[in-house]
Amino acid sequence: MNLHEYQSKFRFEEFGIPIPHGKVAETPEEARQIAQEVGGPVVVKAQVLTGGRGKAGGVKLAATPEEAEQHARSILGMDIKGHIVRKVLVDPAANIEQEIYLGITNDRAARMPVIMCSAEGGMDIEEVNRVKPEAIIREHIDPLLGLRSYQINALASGIELPYPLWRQFQKIAACLYRCYMESDATLAEINPLIITAEGDLLAVDGKMSLDDNALFRHRDLAALRDTSAEPAVETQAREAGLSYVKLDGQIGCMVNGAGLAMATMDMTSIFGEADGIGPANFLDIGGGADADTVAAALRIILADPDVKAILLNIFGGITRCDEVARGVIAAFSEVHVKMPKVVRLVGTNEEEGRQLLQEANIPDMVTATTLSEAAQKAVAAVKGA
Ligand code: GDP
Ligand code: MN
Repeated sequence: MNLHEYQSKFRFEEFGIPIPHGKVAETPEEARQIAQEVGGPVVVKAQVLTGGRGKAGGVKLAATPEEAEQHARSILGMDIKGHIVRKVLVDPAANIEQEIYLGITNDRAARMPVIMCSAEGGMDIEEVNRVKPEAIIREHIDPLLGLRSYQINALASGIELPYPLWRQFQKIAACLYRCYMESDATLAEINPLIITAEGDLLAVDGKMSLDDNALFRHRDLAALRDTSAEPAVETQAREAGLSYVKLDGQIGCMVNGAGLAMATMDMTSIFGEADGIGPANFLDIGGGADADTVAAALRIILADPDVKAILLNIFGGITRCDEVARGVIAAFSEVHVKMPKVVRLVGTNEEEGRQLLQEANIPDMVTATTLSEAAQKAVAAVKGA
């Protein structure tokens, strides 16, 4: 889950990082009011879950409240890389002397967090890494030792930070690391961290990504999720307790168990490769497969217009196959699916399950016993469609 800039910065502030004291507006009039309260030049910033807002025209300076209102009017509703702007942050404008990049993320290969710093702030860090990788200073952080002050000094000296700012920089880097760890984040980034004309450091942009698997222990953070900014199917899937990832193939896969779902995706990719056919999604419906779960999963799969056939691959272990079959039958009678469906049911009571499915006479449904047979039938169904 990603946080908006304003959410990230408010979180940074809780950990002691200096940020501009702005507010969020949903209408041009509100933006004007906030600018009035700020009482000087402001910057009006689109709040969307994507970077490069500046280049896209989503970050604008305003000298007066009237101008702030005008900018908010043009920015609200703007489409930035497919994200519609519904909120703007109105911050007091900063006088920028220099832009610095400071971020922490997980380095999977090193199996520990890494803090990165660059004097080429403002730019995308991926872009800096491509054109001038030597401009990024990295320090790996041993989680048992934490971020040590000599490491922060190494960053400061690496970017030739003016010496009078080192104390502030020490504090900001330490706070950012605490914020990262205590939020179970996978990314905490300040880009840019600026040196102001007054000679202070200030975080003018912020970005945080949180580990979804740890959100259960951060209710306050979980509540920050902006469901208007994510695809509707992802919200539906999460609320139904399903894990769903959209892919770009044509076979809608409904599988119980993450490992079986991965194997199913592999098999459909292998058999469909020659014809450009593959899985339309990853979908794990979890242990049981009752009618409600299957019906919810069907709706999610069908929301994808690219899906041309459905492949159900269910292993009945604790939940017996006859129960699963009843669930599938009930779901198909509730959600009408015109496209071809291939069902593979294996495990406890699989014969009874298959029998039930056959007797139900669901239109355009075929059954399969092995996974390769199921995958081949699904590919053939897409080709025939
Ligand atoms: P991003 O493009 O989505 O990363 O949005 P940022 O918040 O990083 O803003 C983009 C750029 O706008 C920054 O790199 C700055 O150069 C500029 N900017 C942002 N806030 C201010 C501000 O308060 N004053 C000035 N002068 N420039 C700003
Ligand atoms: Mn930025």
